[in-house]
Amino acid sequence: MPRRPRGGVPPQRPGAEGGNDEDGAAPRLGPERIEQGPDGQDWVVRPVPGAASVKTYRCPGCDQEIPPGIAHVVTWRAGTADAAGRRHWHTGCWARRLRPSGRRR
Ligand SMILES: [Zn+2]
Repeated sequence: MPRRPRGGVPPQRPGAEGGNDEDGAAPRLGPERIEQGPDGQDWVVRPVPGAASVKTYRCPGCDQEIPPGIAHVVTWRAGTADAAGRRHWHTGCWARRLRPSGRRR
């Protein structure tokens, strides 16, 4: 029997719980941390350095754009690796979201 050109089984990644969602040549981001929102939902928060921000995002906190080159944070629900569920926030907007100003019209 001739040998097959490919021998062996491709190695499997141990314990990759669907968390590897790096988009190709994504620059290095800061370390992730988990924050719990007021509704009890855990969010993964990851700082994005200005040098790693190459696109314009819309911040859901203030509904304004985050231009490229501005350091901000990207968040998504803990336990999911859904890139579509990610949200980019101004760092200040993300922090403020947990502390409502109390001023309402
Ligand atoms: Zn904002």
